[in-house]
Amino acid sequence: MTIIQALRFHAQHDVRVEDVELPSCGKDDVRVKIAYCGICGSDNPYTGVELPVVMGHEISGTIVEVGSNIEELKVGQNVAINPSMDDRHHGKEDCSVCQSGRRNLCKSWACYGLSAHGGGFADEIVVKPFSCIPVPEGVSLKVAALAEPLAVASHMIRISGFSDGHDVVILGAGPIGLALLLLLRAKGAGKVIVSEVTDSRSRQAEKFGADLVINPLAKIPDGAGSGNSVVDAAHNIMGDGADIAFDAMGIQSTMDTALLVVKPGGVVFNVAIHEKPLLINPNSFSFKEVKLMGGICYTNEDFDDVLGILATGNLAAEDMITSVVPLEEVVQGGFLELINNKAKHVKILIQPSQSVDL
Ligand SMILES: [Zn+2]
Repeated sequence: MTIIQALRFHAQHDVRVEDVELPSCGKDDVRVKIAYCGICGSDNPYTGVELPVVMGHEISGTIVEVGSNIEELKVGQNVAINPSMDDRHHGKEDCSVCQSGRRNLCKSWACYGLSAHGGGFADEIVVKPFSCIPVPEGVSLKVAALAEPLAVASHMIRISGFSDGHDVVILGAGPIGLALLLLLRAKGAGKVIVSEVTDSRSRQAEKFGADLVINPLAKIPDGAGSGNSVVDAAHNIMGDGADIAFDAMGIQSTMDTALLVVKPGGVVFNVAIHEKPLLINPNSFSFKEVKLMGGICYTNEDFDDVLGILATGNLAAEDMITSVVPLEEVVQGGFLELINNKAKHVKILIQPSQSVDL
């Protein structure tokens, strides 16, 4: 029996770093020593699983044990972990949705660190081989921990219909908005405008390659333009508007703006998770024949895409990491820091005590 240190969620406002028994590595399992794990907005108090649950799902690490049935992976290999679970993880036949390649939409979906046993804020995790994405040569384990949030952005870009040269507006420069920006730049976007209200995030968006960053709350002189500075900028720079508008904020005003900045025939893409419904007048997409769509998570293809781009060196993802905190300090240096200084951070990584970046 192996005892590891792990951060477990017991109840709202009750998370503890404690000794936890690691499940044994079976013949069809892989045991990974965790190097880094990023903190996600969804890591804050979560309910609906059998508690306590080990938190953390943005994981990189090194394989330390492989089950006897596994041939495709070997001890010593660095991997990023796709924390999404589907039929395969539960020993079931693939459902029709999984067969269609959309494993992120499987009815048996669960996620390490949120709704399944095992998570990233821990020394080690036992996972299935298809959860492991090999990290290419030249990509550090620190950067590989960003593969998960970048895979979210990669997935949204892929299913949005984006292609080289498209002009894009991103509403909100939080971690996912910035991940979208970085990847769109690496994938050859045309003009990219970012709308963001906080100064620190606006500066990050400039640094990450936005052509223009606009504060939608900045005062506009009376009678100038349409009254919406993001819409005016999109029309000035992009002519008819954006090919794609990503709403990475998820409030009424950002969805309203997304529907106004998109050009006829374009795409409004919801990336945000909404706490309450919004009001949308269907005329706003009918009259411009705009597609209104959304996406969730990623598949292994999106991890491969991101890790492949990281290996080329054309993605300055390391700049997303604003702090690295030891596991023992996750509450003070991680969760509370994100509550108290949210706009200062893009991504805080948690580092289990024994980890060494190979
Ligand atoms: Zn399925």
